[in-house]
Amino acid sequence: MIIPTVMDPIDTFVIKEKVNQARSFGGQTPDPAFLNEVFTPLSALARLHLLYAFFKKEEVLVTSSFGANSAFLLYLISLTNSSQPIHFIDTTHHFPETLEYKKRLMKRFHLNVIDVLPDPEQNAVASSEEWWKDQPKACCAINKVAPLEPIKARHKVWISGLMAFQTPFRANLKVFEQQGSILKFHPLIDYSEAQFEQEREDVGLPRHPLELQGYGSIGCVHCTVKGEGRSGRWSGTGQTECGLHPGFFEGK
Ligand code: SF4
Repeated sequence: MIIPTVMDPIDTFVIKEKVNQARSFGGQTPDPAFLNEVFTPLSALARLHLLYAFFKKEEVLVTSSFGANSAFLLYLISLTNSSQPIHFIDTTHHFPETLEYKKRLMKRFHLNVIDVLPDPEQNAVASSEEWWKDQPKACCAINKVAPLEPIKARHKVWISGLMAFQTPFRANLKVFEQQGSILKFHPLIDYSEAQFEQEREDVGLPRHPLELQGYGSIGCVHCTVKGEGRSGRWSGTGQTECGLHPGFFEGK
């Protein structure tokens, strides 16, 4: 049984060596190709530990939807840097179960969560006109993407919990990807579904209550139905991502 609470001794050795290398950058962001070479052979936990050798905590952005797969990454972050702020994009359309789950995980992992809210006027218009029905990209743009923009601008690297097995778009991502002016960091990207399920089971993480009812992926109330994986997100609209990740607006 593998429980990722401590690092593999080989990873620990590699990290000690790489920490010195990180210092040589003097606070400058290394090239993504270099970072991928260093980080890809490591475990997810070791990647997270090493990230803080290259970046200060204030330069690291973490977002969480507190959805079906969120707890594992939050758990690993709590082991690595427990005071790391976690940004929750509150679209105002979350399930009550998600808000309860968020409270539960905050308590369990002592998380420092910051709520990110949309512009109230734009949110009110989108809500009253039910944009999610015929213009979900615009709805996500004002409720998710725009509120995060000024926060992204204050950070150098953004940790996400994306995993390659989840969608064809995610299957092509590396551990580090440049996304405009910010570097995206995907420490879980090479997890297989079986490994992910096994490790979160071994750790004994609480499940989102809606996952137990058959929701494989959980976002806003209006855009989530039951289904395996991400099949229940924006069902029937052709949309697969919310715009926070590259490729969404480019139609990839
Ligand atoms: S997921 Fe749906 S309700 Fe939520 S912001 Fe996007 S389109 Fe709007």
